[in-house]
Amino acid sequence: MPSKINHIGIAVPDIERAAEFYTKHLGLRLGGVEEVADQKVKVAFLPIGEVRLELVQPTSPESPVARFLEKNGPGFHHIAYQVDDVAAEVERLKVEGVRMVDQAPRTGAHNTRIAFVHPKASGGVLTELVQEMGEE
Ligand code: ZN
Repeated sequence: MPSKINHIGIAVPDIERAAEFYTKHLGLRLGGVEEVADQKVKVAFLPIGEVRLELVQPTSPESPVARFLEKNGPGFHHIAYQVDDVAAEVERLKVEGVRMVDQAPRTGAHNTRIAFVHPKASGGVLTELVQEMGEE
């Protein structure tokens, strides 16, 4: 079961431009930008308390985030819950009949393993499970 909220994902067309509001006007600190090839996105984290905002920018028109932006415009994209064992959580949810986007965990940003739950299963909110694998 999730232990806390790990981050909140916000889809944006341009990380640097979107980050300006959060750094200039909310005083958050922008971490390094990292590319997640798997998802065809660039991501940047802005920590606040125990949680982080994750700005997500597509790097290709085929990215699921590019399709999201086309359909919805920039804005709230997903909520990510921290779990100890993402593979076990995916198996548990599948057994419980929860509709998954990912049938198995895959590689996320910053040395994590992640899996997405389908928004149809979670009140319309794209839901990410994230397991931190520790420092590389
Ligand atoms: Zn995320």
